[in-house]
Parts: sequence; structure tokens; C-alpha cells
Amino acid sequence: MTGRVRPSTSACGCGATMRWATTISGLRLPLNIEPSPDGTIELVNLSLCRVVPVEERAACKSPLYSTHFSTCAIAAATLHRSQG
Ligand SMILES: [Zn+2]
Repeated sequence: MTGRVRPSTSACGCGATMRWATTISGLRLPLNIEPSPDGTIELVNLSLCRVVPVEERAACKSPLYSTHFSTCAIAAATLHRSQG
């Protein structure tokens, strides 16, 4: 018996809550909880998302989300450090 599906969330080190969603190609992305005016990712359902191609964004009626890592200062610093 599989019950209701809930969005999978976790807390980032910066204090923000991230919502995890999986793309159609199987990549897990941490999204910001709130949609963003410059977001690129559409939630298909609670756990599945889709990167909307640039040419489709203007016509897209759904709210679009950004990955949390694109806005998170801690994630940016961590990625930078791991490259050095
Ligand atoms: Zn963060």
C-alpha cells in the first residue's frame, strides 16, 4: 500500500529548505521552495521535474523554479573549494 506522495525536502546549511525533484533523465536537483522569475525548472508532479528549454519558457504557464545551488552562497563556496 503506497500512500500519499510527499515532496522530499531537506535543509541546506544556509538555513533554506530545498525541495528535491528528479528530472526525466534521472538527475536529482535541489530546488528552491518558491518559484523564481528567472527559474528554468517546471515541476511535473511532487517528485518529477523538467528543465524547460529557453524557447518554451515564455509560453510556459507553470511556475518555474531555480535550483537552490544557483542561489546558495554556501553551495557556491563548497563547489569552489572542491575544485581547488
Ligand atoms: Zn543553501
